Amino acid sequence: MAIQEVKKTSCRMCGMLCGIDVHLEDGCVVEIKGNEKALHNRGRICIKGSSGLSQLYHPQRITKPLKRTENGFVEIELEQAMDEIAEKMKALRTEYGNDSVGVWKGEGTGFAQQEEVVHRFILSLDHK
Ligand code: SF4
Repeated sequence: MAIQEVKKTSCRMCGMLCGIDVHLEDGCVVEIKGNEKALHNRGRICIKGSSGLSQLYHPQRITKPLKRTENGFVEIELEQAMDEIAEKMKALRTEYGNDSVGVWKGEGTGFAQQEEVVHRFILSLDHK
């Protein structure tokens, strides 16, 4: 018999932090609903918030970095992506200076943690 649970939490897909009920079956998310008792969304969630299931389980979700090539996008390993980005950033800074590099962290899942990582990353750049 499947173990069913409901975890009360907040959607992290944007800054509204809507209250949600995440329904699990044997540890897998099977449904995401708005929390009826959450004061600011009162049981409602938007299409983005309800897309959490696709983000977790859709067979065509992006699971590796994608690199644009002449023949379209191709999957590459994370290590390769990081190396190539670092090389390009170094080249830009060498040619145009430190202010030529900026970061937009986005507003996706885990944005609060992303902000911390971005702060550390930017502060780690050598600002001579
Ligand atoms: S349900 Fe929609 S509006 Fe609410 S936090 Fe998630 S993405 Fe934002």
